[in-house]
Amino acid sequence: MDEVAQIREKIDIVSLISEYIPLKKMGRNFKSVCPFHNEKTPSFVVSPERQIWHCFGGCNKGGDVYTFLMEYENLEFVEALRILAKRTGVQLRESNFDAGISSKKETIYKLNKIALEFYHYVLTKHEAGKKALSYLTEKRKLDPKLIETFMIGFSPREGASLANYLISKKKYKKEDLIEAGLAFYSGSRVMDFFRKETISKSTGESRIEAFS
Ligand SMILES: [Zn+2]
Repeated sequence: MDEVAQIREKIDIVSLISEYIPLKKMGRNFKSVCPFHNEKTPSFVVSPERQIWHCFGGCNKGGDVYTFLMEYENLEFVEALRILAKRTGVQLRESNFDAGISSKKETIYKLNKIALEFYHYVLTKHEAGKKALSYLTEKRKLDPKLIETFMIGFSPREGASLANYLISKKKYKKEDLIEAGLAFYSGSRVMDFFRKETISKSTGESRIEAFS
């Protein structure tokens, strides 16, 4: 295991984040008002099981201990790594600071951008998002322009459509997806982090082939 993963394992995300913002236990997760956008009802969720955080409100940010620190303290990945290494007493090798690791942040951004476009595509253009789209526009009376502006998306029922797409079509590594807060391990399977969240009764096609 490399140092990045080793450090992540040693830090409990709930105790780290609660040093910055007050977290309240709600069921299996912890919640708070999001520190990254203005809101009144808490939509910032920390999952101790998955060791990740995510804002389901306006900013839609999310990730692990590193990304939280990067966002909160406005740091580069390498700086966050140094801080957390010191905290956990994990010795960093110089190789951690070469180009490979600082490009990690770029990969995370890139993956999140693809995910945004992917889910938006599913909602607006794919058969699997049809029901969700009519729910949003007809039942919830959501202006289609808002769906475009905020790039609202839909995750199909199957639960690994984004992971399948990124791994088999885009040739990303499983670890990249997990690092980016887009997937997690369920046994040996990689599952999408975003699934069955808002609308569970989708038509659920198993693979989204047309998106590219
Ligand atoms: Zn937020």
